Amino acid sequence: MRPAFRFRWQGVWLALIGVALWGAHGLPRVAAATPPPLTPQVHIAFGDAVTIILPLEQLGPVQRVEIYLRPEGQVETYTQDMVIDGPRARYVHPLTEKPLPLFGQVFYWFKIYPAQGPAYESPAFVFIYEDNRFMWQSRAVEPVTVYWYEGNLELAEIALRAAHMALQNAFIQWQGRLAQEQTVRVYMYANARDLHTALSSSAGPPDHDPVPQHTVLTVATWSPEGRVALQRDIAHQVAHIVLRDTVGEGYANLPWWLKEGLATLAEPQTQTDDYTALRDAALSQQLIPLAQLCRPEPWDDPEAEALARAEAGAFVAHLYARYGPAGLQRLLEGYANGMGCDEGFRAALGTSLTALEDDWRSAQGLFPQHEKAGGWAALAVTLAMLAPFLALGWWWQRQAGGLWAPSRPR
Ligand SMILES: [Zn+2]
Repeated sequence: MRPAFRFRWQGVWLALIGVALWGAHGLPRVAAATPPPLTPQVHIAFGDAVTIILPLEQLGPVQRVEIYLRPEGQVETYTQDMVIDGPRARYVHPLTEKPLPLFGQVFYWFKIYPAQGPAYESPAFVFIYEDNRFMWQSRAVEPVTVYWYEGNLELAEIALRAAHMALQNAFIQWQGRLAQEQTVRVYMYANARDLHTALSSSAGPPDHDPVPQHTVLTVATWSPEGRVALQRDIAHQVAHIVLRDTVGEGYANLPWWLKEGLATLAEPQTQTDDYTALRDAALSQQLIPLAQLCRPEPWDDPEAEALARAEAGAFVAHLYARYGPAGLQRLLEGYANGMGCDEGFRAALGTSLTALEDDWRSAQGLFPQHEKAGGWAALAVTLAMLAPFLALGWWWQRQAGGLWAPSRPR
């Protein structure tokens, strides 16, 4: 039985993590005077509000407390005066107006104005905006932790392996690596409905973009197709996270086809369905030119999006086969440093995007004329090979009723 909203006090251990993470995130420093220890408590009513309580007993008389909240990976910081209510200060963060990223880390700190003496800032603390409607179980093999609330350990192992495989692939294929001491958290929902309701009451992540919080949100089902989809999805999302860590701020400048193609390249298996879709699209002249996939508009046609993803995946696989990790790395470097779609391509690979696109399509048989010419050529070759036999057959046929005439009863 799942409680609709399970409240949880997460203060103390998160406070400890907060202190440990203090230096790494460039948040405000502690004031020179040694502040008294703080023991804030965080109370999450998922989708509704986050309440933060700061006990004030140890601080002496206080006239005002400001709170600051900043979700990891965002520039915006929420700030507000806390309500002082006897021996504690309280802040309620309304999630409907100011949504927080699902499972994202949220850093928070206080500015305290004592009744006497100068104001000072506290160290930063952190909590995770967890979907606590469910009882999550977890299993970790560093640097990946998998969480689930339905299913079993075996499914978690599959997910862990897929994530580790993607980390390995990203490293082999383009020297991609997670930022130092970073970890990846994979949350497996039992069905799409649960994931959808979770996302609709949170901020982002935008579809298919890497999650700045290093989280992967996915749906895990136990059917054979479900397991395959789970592995692909986790590998794909992990690759996006690694890509973002590898190129840093330059990630925003990568062409769409490269981002999606590299994420697809890290997936566990090549997709025959994708290839069939590409061939069909090539035959009906529906393939989207890659230049249009540098900065595509948001998709409103799922079929076009699926085709674009298949193209990106197959094209980047072709680049990898042709230029290896060094070529992909040169591409990433040029684009991350701000080069344009074709400019970066020429600088890294010494040829144009269009020329390589033709090369890829020829290699994969993705030209309608190629298909047609190939068909006629095959017929001509077959006829040429058969011609002597046909002639011989005709000659025999003319000799004494022919070999193929029905035998007469004696
Ligand atoms: Zn993607």
